[in-house]
Amino acid sequence: MPATLPLPVVSVEPPLPRVNNAKASGGHREHAAMAKDFVANVERTHWHDGALWFVRSKRDAQASTIPEWEYLREQAAAIKTEAIANLPDLLEQFEVNATRLGATVHWAIDAEEHNRIVHQILQRRGIVRLVKSKSMLTEECHLNDYLEQRGIEVVDTDLGERIVQLRRETPSHIVLPAIHLKKEEVGETFHEHLGTELGASDPQYLTEAARGHLRGRFLQGEAGLTGVNFAISQTGGIVVCTNEGNADLGAALPPVHIASMGMEKIIPRLEDLGVFIRLLARSATGQPITTYTSHFHGPRDAASELHIVIVDNGRTAIRQSETFRSALGCIRCGSCMNTCPVFRRSGGHSYGATVPGPIGSVLNPASDDKKYQSLPYACSLCGSCTDVCPVKIPLHHQLLSWRKEFGERGLLSASKTLPMKLASHLFRRPLAFQLAGRVARAALRHLPHCLFINRLNPMAWTWNRDREIPEAPAESFTQWYAKNRGHKR
Ligand code: SF4
Repeated sequence: MPATLPLPVVSVEPPLPRVNNAKASGGHREHAAMAKDFVANVERTHWHDGALWFVRSKRDAQASTIPEWEYLREQAAAIKTEAIANLPDLLEQFEVNATRLGATVHWAIDAEEHNRIVHQILQRRGIVRLVKSKSMLTEECHLNDYLEQRGIEVVDTDLGERIVQLRRETPSHIVLPAIHLKKEEVGETFHEHLGTELGASDPQYLTEAARGHLRGRFLQGEAGLTGVNFAISQTGGIVVCTNEGNADLGAALPPVHIASMGMEKIIPRLEDLGVFIRLLARSATGQPITTYTSHFHGPRDAASELHIVIVDNGRTAIRQSETFRSALGCIRCGSCMNTCPVFRRSGGHSYGATVPGPIGSVLNPASDDKKYQSLPYACSLCGSCTDVCPVKIPLHHQLLSWRKEFGERGLLSASKTLPMKLASHLFRRPLAFQLAGRVARAALRHLPHCLFINRLNPMAWTWNRDREIPEAPAESFTQWYAKNRGHKR
């Protein structure tokens, strides 16, 4: 490890748009195509899988220390159900209480309005440097690009977020934004942007370098932007949970604090908070609690401003859906991603969306069903996400519901609908089903496989890429059953 740390280098990166690695090659591609890019690097795939499973195991270990864990999950689900049902009233009550505490509450119908409001707040005070702690909502709204195009420097201060920002990438995970990167890659990025030693990849050294670099940026920041983990309707206060204390520095040093909040972050009462605080860090990273759980009740002092921007951006539409409404209860712990066998082996960028993984596959099609149509199929329906979700969102059931919804909306391709129609036809006609079975078994035994497995039969072609064709059994299950269980047909 190098003996001395480099001085922080204050460089201004050009305002290039941030890219999602997996779709850097062009327009939006389906999950399977983007996952193919990720799995092509076998070593990275195994390492990513193992790293996330390690976090999942830590979550299990922590959950097992709380005898009332399942009760807590039920409580959390019940509170979220109540909050979503009474959302308009709770938000209005929150606005009244937050305003009474001295905060200014803004309402944004969509991403564009959110960005415009944030820009206006900064513009009014002539602010050109913003320090930002982790906020998936601002990622969803593409705030960084919006502000940079208007001459405002935005510095992400969460370490993982800063790494991907320096690389002009998007986060690949909502809690672990740079989990797709190896420490050597981080070392290269820091060497290029922060002046660390060439080839240095020691995590301690790199973290120290980032700390020095970010301290300088905190001192230069003229406004701080944070996300909101919980907004308490009863008190008008907001709560931000971080492990690095960067939200606290960003909110405490500059005179202006902007908090961007999805409208679903509301909880009714202060006493509800304890339930979520106990669940959040344990589910997210397997820690008993986040290192910093910071409460903000109005601006810091008379010379400071606190602006809370409450954003809809499609959430009302999800709330109106009986099937998908409970997905708004998500507290963004990321544990459904850590446990998902598809996410672990395909990487977050393969989802092509700000929120990836099982919850992203539920939420994103609500905003654009055509663009995100492949996501509910990036799922084995194993149900592991549902089992770990601290607010008991029935994720895999909702993913299945999306598939049905796509069928009803006429969005499925012929390669999906035609085989289903054929199967439906056969399943309703026992004689035709038995005859088809006989023909298929004979064909598998006697005809060359290239007749079935070819590019003209895309489903079989894809299926066969990683699997062998099974040997045709000598008899059907119906024949076997009749013989062995004594029922004649
Ligand atoms: S859906 Fe559940 S498990 Fe997934 S991020 Fe949200 S709260 Fe966590």
